[in-house]
Amino acid sequence: MKILVINSGSSSLKYQLIDMETESVLAKGNCERIGIENSNFIYKAHGKTIEQQVDMPNHNVAVQLVLKKLMDKDVGVISSMSEIDGVGHRVVASGEAFKKPTLVTPESMELMEEIKDLAPLHNPAAIVGIKACLLEMPDTPMVLVFDTGFHFTMPDYAYMYAIDYAHYEKYKIRRYGAHGTSHKFVAQEAAKYLKKDLKSLKIITCHLGNGSSITAVNGGECIDTSMGFTPLAGVPMGTRSGDIDYSAAEYLAKKEGLSVSEMLNYLNKKCGVLGVSGVSSDFRDLSNAANNGNRRAELALNMFTYGVKKYIGAYAAALNGVDVIVFTAGIGENDDVVRSKSLQGMDYLGVKLDEKKNASCPRGVIAEIQAKDSKVKILVVPTNEELVIARETMLEAKLG
Ligand code: ADP
Repeated sequence: MKILVINSGSSSLKYQLIDMETESVLAKGNCERIGIENSNFIYKAHGKTIEQQVDMPNHNVAVQLVLKKLMDKDVGVISSMSEIDGVGHRVVASGEAFKKPTLVTPESMELMEEIKDLAPLHNPAAIVGIKACLLEMPDTPMVLVFDTGFHFTMPDYAYMYAIDYAHYEKYKIRRYGAHGTSHKFVAQEAAKYLKKDLKSLKIITCHLGNGSSITAVNGGECIDTSMGFTPLAGVPMGTRSGDIDYSAAEYLAKKEGLSVSEMLNYLNKKCGVLGVSGVSSDFRDLSNAANNGNRRAELALNMFTYGVKKYIGAYAAALNGVDVIVFTAGIGENDDVVRSKSLQGMDYLGVKLDEKKNASCPRGVIAEIQAKDSKVKILVVPTNEELVIARETMLEAKLG
């Protein structure tokens, strides 16, 4: 059983072909700069990486290139398209239109069109990617897997905004969250690793990457999450502001003469640790700068770790305690200083890090980094969003 996972951006298309018997990646890569000059095709298989400058005027050509490479007699991993049993498409926003993974059908595609403007940068790109795949593989079952899906178990008092209820009903404005596939995966992995029933655990999952979100998972179900209607909310991120008083945004927009969409672009692209530090959105650059005495880089890092800590505290309250704290994604898996600072001064919760284990935490595997006398387990769990999408695709398309 082989599942192709597709993640389409407006000018990119990431792909992975996963063998579901072993849950291993057969081939993966990225089509970059689709529709832009100098498009780039990256293909990784058999331990080798191939990078080619190929003209990719649109997503259709990109999908054709991917399939051709997967079937290539020298570097390919399948001999015919019929070996691809299903395709899972990552979709960023679902609104309330989709509450679970859903088969691609004319009806579901119509709904996708209707909710396009919920994520104007991402959802239209997903539609383009799906259509491109349908052209090449019209008979292969395809499934929409939403970043928001895992968060639909939140109770209404957690997902509602305190706005006029009529506006919630009319426009479905509420908290949806994001990174759902990652939060779900690492919570499951943590329970498996600890040999505990997921249903018995209170877990706080910290997905800290370019975009960061924190989720409270009770018995395997999300009960709250830090991102909101869009991924702009929550802790400060690489370039996103995170939580901010809207009056401050209005005040700044007036002072700088920015329109609403220009303001949103500013909050999404020019703020976060990049905006505060003036150095970079990448945490490696930030810690280098902070270590060399850059005060604003240090401030940005402090704001980030303080933000993570506040959410952990809030979710410990929401969960009435916490058994496991999980760190994942680029920063969560690799940055021991961020992990350590985010957990400082939490002894009252029974959270105690083993600084040595934390600093020497191996990469790419699950690691347990709490001190012996910590009441709470602290785990670093590598995420695998593509695998979750592939698993959901198998389930929804009733494959296997
Ligand atoms: P996304 O998938 O949201 O683009 P990732 O989960 O790949 O993001 O995380 C990317 C971020 O991870 C980078 O911006 C960088 O700040 C951080 N990162 C990656 N490796 C390291 C590392 N070794 N140390 C500190 N931060 C790292």
